[in-house]
Amino acid sequence: MTSQLRIIPLGGLGEIGKNMMALEYEDDIVIIDCGVQFPEEGMFGVDLIIPDISYLMDRIDKVRAILITHGHEDHIGALPFILPKLKCPVYAPRLAHGLITAKLKERRAARDSVVNPIDPNVVHQIGEAFEVSWFRVCHSIPDAMGIAIGTPLGTVIHTGDFKIDHTPVDGRIFDLPVLRRWRTDLQASHDGLRRLAAPRVMAPAVLLGAAAWLSEGMALWLILRGLEAGIPIAQAVPIYAAATLVGAVSALPGGLIGTEGSMIALLQQSGISRAAASSGTLLVRLATLWFAVAVGLLALLWLHHFKNMAATSPDSAASSDSETGDTALPSAR
Ligand SMILES: [Zn+2]
Repeated sequence: MTSQLRIIPLGGLGEIGKNMMALEYEDDIVIIDCGVQFPEEGMFGVDLIIPDISYLMDRIDKVRAILITHGHEDHIGALPFILPKLKCPVYAPRLAHGLITAKLKERRAARDSVVNPIDPNVVHQIGEAFEVSWFRVCHSIPDAMGIAIGTPLGTVIHTGDFKIDHTPVDGRIFDLPVLRRWRTDLQASHDGLRRLAAPRVMAPAVLLGAAAWLSEGMALWLILRGLEAGIPIAQAVPIYAAATLVGAVSALPGGLIGTEGSMIALLQQSGISRAAASSGTLLVRLATLWFAVAVGLLALLWLHHFKNMAATSPDSAASSDSETGDTALPSAR
C-alpha cells in the first residue's frame, strides 16, 4: 500500500481563526473550511488575515472542492479572496451557503464561483478518492455540521466547531446516532483487520475450513463406494446431507471469526457500508454452500443413472464381477 492520505492544516491549529485544512490522496485534494483571522491590537493597517495557500497553488490541478462546516467568519471569511484563485466548487450547509453567496457578491467574487447547498447524510462523490457526507452538530450558529470523509484508507471525521446541546433553540439536535454509527463502523473494520492478522484466530479458522472440505469429500467418497457396493441412492443421500451439515457447522465458527469477519472488514475499508459488506459476504457464503450441495447431488444422480443402466444392460454380470475394479462406470458403455 504505497498511497498515503495527507492531512495538511493550513490554519486554525494552535490559533484562533483562519480555519483551513486540506486532505490529499493521490490526485485529489479537498479542503475543509476557509476562514479569516482578525488582527490583534498591534497589527496596524491590517483588516483581515487569510490562510497561506501556496501549498494548494503548487498543486492546483488536484484541488477538487472546499467543504464548509458552518457559517462563522473564521470558517468562511477567506472565501472571497481564495476562491477566485482556487476556482473549485464549494459545498456548504444551507445557512452558510446563503452567507457565502452574499459575501461573494459583496466582494464581486461571485462570478465563476459554484456554491452548492448540502443537506446532512447525503453522500457526495468528490474526485476519485473522497466520499463526503455532512452530519448535524450543535454550535453557537444554526445549521452547523461535521463532515465524514470516506477515503480509500479509512474514514476521516471532522467535527467542525461543536457543543453537545440536548435542547438547542432551533430543535435540531446533534446527530449523535450517526456519529456513533461511524464509531462502530470504524471500530468494526479495525477489529476485523486485527483479527485477520492474529494467527491464533486464523489457524483454527483455516483448520476448521479444511476439516469442513475434508468431511464433504469423505462423504462423497463414501457414497461413491456405497453405490458401487449396490447401496440404494435413498440411503446414500442422507449420508451426504449429514456430512454436508457437519461440514457447514464446523466451517461456521471458522468463517465467523476468521474469513468472513476479515472479508467484511476489507470490504468496509474499500468504502462499502457495513450492512452491504455483511449481506454480500453472507450471500457469497450461501451461494458457495448451495453450489457444493448442488454439485454433490448432481454427481449422485449422474452416478445413479449409470448404475441403473449398468444394472439393466445385458452384461451386468460383468459389472458385479468388477467390484474390485475402479467403478461401475466402464461397464455402462
Ligand atoms: Zn464556529
